[in-house]
Amino acid sequence: MSQKEKFYITTTLPYVNSDPHIGFALEIIQADAIARFKRLQGFDVLFNTGTDEHGLKIYRKAEETGVTPKEYCDEYAAKFDALKGILNLTYTNFIRTTDEHHIKACHEFWKMCFDNGDIYKKNYKVKYCVGCELEKTESDLEEGKCPIHPNLDIELIEEENYFFKFSKYQDALLELYKNNPNFVRPTHRLTEIRKFTERGLKDFSISRLREKMPWGVPVPGDEDHVMYVWFDALVNYISTLGWPEKKYTDWWPGVQIAGTDNLRQQSNMWQAMLMSAGVEPSSEILIHGFITAEGKKMSKSLGNVVDPFTIVDEFGTDALRYYLLREIPFGNDGDFNKKLFIERYNSDLANNLGNLVNRIYSLVSRNEITDFTFDKYADLYKEKVDETWKKYVADMNEYNLHEAVFHVWRLVDFANKMMEEEKPWALIKKNEEKGRAVLCNLLEVLRHISIMISPIIPEASAKIRRQIGLSVEIDTEKENGWGVVVGWQSLGEQEILFPRIEVE
Ligand SMILES: [Zn+2]
Repeated sequence: MSQKEKFYITTTLPYVNSDPHIGFALEIIQADAIARFKRLQGFDVLFNTGTDEHGLKIYRKAEETGVTPKEYCDEYAAKFDALKGILNLTYTNFIRTTDEHHIKACHEFWKMCFDNGDIYKKNYKVKYCVGCELEKTESDLEEGKCPIHPNLDIELIEEENYFFKFSKYQDALLELYKNNPNFVRPTHRLTEIRKFTERGLKDFSISRLREKMPWGVPVPGDEDHVMYVWFDALVNYISTLGWPEKKYTDWWPGVQIAGTDNLRQQSNMWQAMLMSAGVEPSSEILIHGFITAEGKKMSKSLGNVVDPFTIVDEFGTDALRYYLLREIPFGNDGDFNKKLFIERYNSDLANNLGNLVNRIYSLVSRNEITDFTFDKYADLYKEKVDETWKKYVADMNEYNLHEAVFHVWRLVDFANKMMEEEKPWALIKKNEEKGRAVLCNLLEVLRHISIMISPIIPEASAKIRRQIGLSVEIDTEKENGWGVVVGWQSLGEQEILFPRIEVE
């Protein structure tokens, strides 16, 4: 058997200074939908996520709470890993930046950059946002504050640090952007980072004095310093692959997904670091937007933070996955609006899809259809399914997830419309052969829908497949194309997919 082609995707690693929020849920659900789709296409997928655990912010939080930084991180890492079950995620790797193999990889990475002449010592005086764990220039600030963390004071840091020769990589980075028009998606983000690079890059500090901030990866050969948290954290994208010992090139270069606030780190700093260490750049950087709540920026002080755990508790995992993937175009900012959430749920999930499944199931069951024929009177159905597959795959390949979802729901609409027009419950009495064929065709459309929605709402996909007598596991090599069904069994138990939400 031939080796499967490999596909690697990774999220950013969230800092463990607060509970998982809806913005990260968006990122990891998008990554999961892409990972699941690639598996459908026959790829062997490595999907990485984890937690970023070093730095001043964590160190201070642990001190505040009266526990060691490691204890503090253990608790939060468990909370983030719990997302796997709650959001129905299929990541294969969960890396913590306190993991031993990661720390070892950071040492190697540092040495390679150092040997390449890209690390030097210099006195450092800078304005710093602990919230971002980033230096800020005057132009980054609004009224003297970080716009992302307006409740934090900007701090002044002055010490002797190690620096990374970022400026040396300006031309190489511009070349990378020029040669890879899809290196950063959406395109306007590539333009943004290109323009930023053209304005000139400043070397950045990559260490901290251990006596002031001991919670970091030790700098090799210098006990007085630990690595700057970003320098260490970014290395996770390859340390998770076993770099440098293991054959990481089986998976690397990979696709990275990140928020707009991560554009510079992922598509700029990290790429220069990779060049310095002699590692190939990432293959693509996907940048998603921010989420607001009811049109307003979420903040603890406003009390409007949307908690993914609460939504899943109340409405289920698929409902949240559907809303985020359907409502927020990739790369755009989005809004979490409860009224719209319930409207989408009721119209798209409960009514359109849920009713279609119920009606097909009931009719197939009542008329005891066990002998499936798909080719009679199938032209219209087959044409619509083929056309949907084409559009769906094209958009999924381009990471236009919300467009892909849109196409599938047009197929759901089509099946509902055919049900209304053909009236198989009446037709079967007048022309039994045709009535049965229509039902078989509708069932076959539903099978295709169950495959297309499996990256989006996997639980509903599994429920549909169980009901209509198919295995939950989709074997796309065998279940490929119209009427090509292997192992179609008798109907399973009827299950309600999406109970309607009653609105007061
Ligand atoms: Zn900040």
